[in-house]
Parts: sequence; structure tokens; C-alpha cells
Amino acid sequence: MRISQVELRKVSLPLVRPFRTSSSYRQSITHVLVRVQAESGQVGWGECSAPVDPYYCAETTGTCWHILKEFLVPSLLEQDWREPGEIAPLFGPIKGNRFARAGLEMACIDAWCRENGLSVARWLGGIRARIESGVSLGIETDLGRLFAIIDQHLAEGYARIKLKIAPGHDLNLVRSVRSAYPSLKLQVDANSAYTLTDTNTLRQLDDLQLLLIEQPLGDDDLIDHAELQKQLVTPLCLDESLHSLDDVRKALQIQACRVVNIKPGRVGGLVEARRIHDYCQARTIPVWCGGMHEFGIGRAANVALASLPGFSLPGDVSGSSKYFEHDLVTPAIEAERGTIFVYYEQPGLGVEPQLDRIEHHTTAFWSSAS
Ligand SMILES: [Mg+2]
Repeated sequence: MRISQVELRKVSLPLVRPFRTSSSYRQSITHVLVRVQAESGQVGWGECSAPVDPYYCAETTGTCWHILKEFLVPSLLEQDWREPGEIAPLFGPIKGNRFARAGLEMACIDAWCRENGLSVARWLGGIRARIESGVSLGIETDLGRLFAIIDQHLAEGYARIKLKIAPGHDLNLVRSVRSAYPSLKLQVDANSAYTLTDTNTLRQLDDLQLLLIEQPLGDDDLIDHAELQKQLVTPLCLDESLHSLDDVRKALQIQACRVVNIKPGRVGGLVEARRIHDYCQARTIPVWCGGMHEFGIGRAANVALASLPGFSLPGDVSGSSKYFEHDLVTPAIEAERGTIFVYYEQPGLGVEPQLDRIEHHTTAFWSSAS
């Protein structure tokens, strides 16, 4: 396949409910959408899900825009590639910038699968008809309000709840939730808010029957996580620290975690995400699919990925309506009794971007043709 034109759009949608973590507070989501057109005329769409600020990772919407426009798109245009595994090598010496790569690769994979009459889920090797869906809840300081939100999601059938925690919003909060919901599948995510000096606090989470504790320590750390894991019964799961299969291999080698969160954007795309899945599956390490508040395009890619056999824990891939009043694709991705349907028969990502809605929310546009 040969890509002859690429368009970038910065698109903003308001969140139905603001989302707070240990490091950020968001009322809207802005991502870069990528549209590629092949020489054959086939079109594909992708999404760069890096946030607008560098508080989760170093990349942002703005860095994705810059790196795509100046480096990634020029290295891809007019190049021949036969299958999706040949896309990333075309990016050659470009370092890092994995969310940017992932969005462009996703668009190429969508186009390639459509050209071959194949769904992304089938191409990846998915086996599940529906994926189990969990929810990630931002920090709520009002417990009554938090319980109401949990009740609402349990009533909708979601399989597990993840709470964001931060110093000062941890033990009492999680204890209260655990005592109100004794059998709830519950896990927490600190987004790198602690250090080893907080080990005593983190050890007390061991009494609360959590499925896992996600990324308690530094976003670039493996060594301290290995030290902490030795002192905890609860499995640690890494998110921010893992950017590639190589990172996962090192983390597992030193036992820095026992569970792996896979986000296609964070690891540079679906090809690398599948390699990480395969590596973990061969070692019976459970993986699950995280989320970056994706619009329907990136969300569809997450659903396809989570249909692979090694995704044995419910992920953060929720129905779109949890975040957005009107998504940018049809059909909108929705959870039903806590599960989400996987599109195997529809070509590509299985959803159709709605150009009128996308254009209505577009704040910047660039085309390689102009
Ligand atoms: Mg996380």
C-alpha cells in the first residue's frame, strides 16, 4: 500500500463530567485525528490520544501535531509497504513520540484492513465476541457523590471499578469504598504520585483486596517498583513506565510488576501492542487495555485490541457516553451490561467517522496536499 495524502485535525469535545487524577483536571478532550488516503483511494482514520498537557506523559496534542507534520508524515508518504508490520520501520531514526506514531499507524491499519476486506479485530487475532468493560473514576472528594457514581456504573453492569488515588486521597477513600462494596472488583491508579518513602501507606492498601495497584511510583521508574512489589501482596501494574516490548521485558525480568496495562498509543501503536500481548501471554502475565479518553476512532482500536485472548482482566474501555454526549463515529461504542461488542465483520475499525461532526469540533487542520 502507498499513502498519497494525510490530513490532520485537532478535535475538541467537552466531557460530560470533569475528570481529576493525581496530576490533571480535564473538562474537555482534544486529540489529533489522522486521515490517510492511499493511492487506490482507500481512506483510513486514526487517533493520537496524547493529552493536551504533559502531566501524564511527555507527549501532548501539540507535540503530536508537530512530529506528525514535520517528520512522521513525510517519512511515510509515497513509501511502499505490504502489511502493517512494515509501517513503523519507515519512521526510521525518529525517537519516542509514540502517541504520534500510533495515530498515524492506526489510520494506515484501518485503510489496509478496509482494502483487504478485513476487520482490525480479526487482523489482530481477536477471539472475544464482547470485551468486559471496566470504568476508571476520577478523584471525587465527596464520598456520597462517589458512591452514587459507583452505583450508577454497577447498575449499568460494569465489571470492575478503578479509583484514581493521590496522596491525601487514598487510604480513607479506598477503605470507605471497600466497606460499602465488600465484593466489588476494585483497583486503584496513582499515576506516579508516590515515592518509596510512601511504602507504609501503600502497604496498608494490601488489606483492601484490590485486584492491583497501578503505577504508584515514578513515570520513568522500574527499579523502585521492583523494590515496592517485594513488600506488597497486591500485584503492581505498570502503565506510564512501559513504552515498548523492551520495557515490558525489563520490568518483568526484575519483577517490577505482575500485571501490564497496554495502551496502543503509549507503546507506539497496535503492532507493538500486539507484540507485548503475545510476550505476556507466553509468560501467563495478565494484561488489560487502558484508556486515554479516546473518541470513537481510538476507542474502536482499543476494543479490537482487547478482544485478544491474553486480555484476561476487564480494561478501562467504557462506553463512549460515559465521556461524551455525542461521539464522532457511528455507531457509537456503547457498553451493554458491562460488555462492549467487537466488530469482526465490518472492515477496518468497524466504525464510520462522521465528517460533519468532526468538522464542527475541529480547531486546526493541516493537509499534506496543501
Ligand atoms: Mg493508568
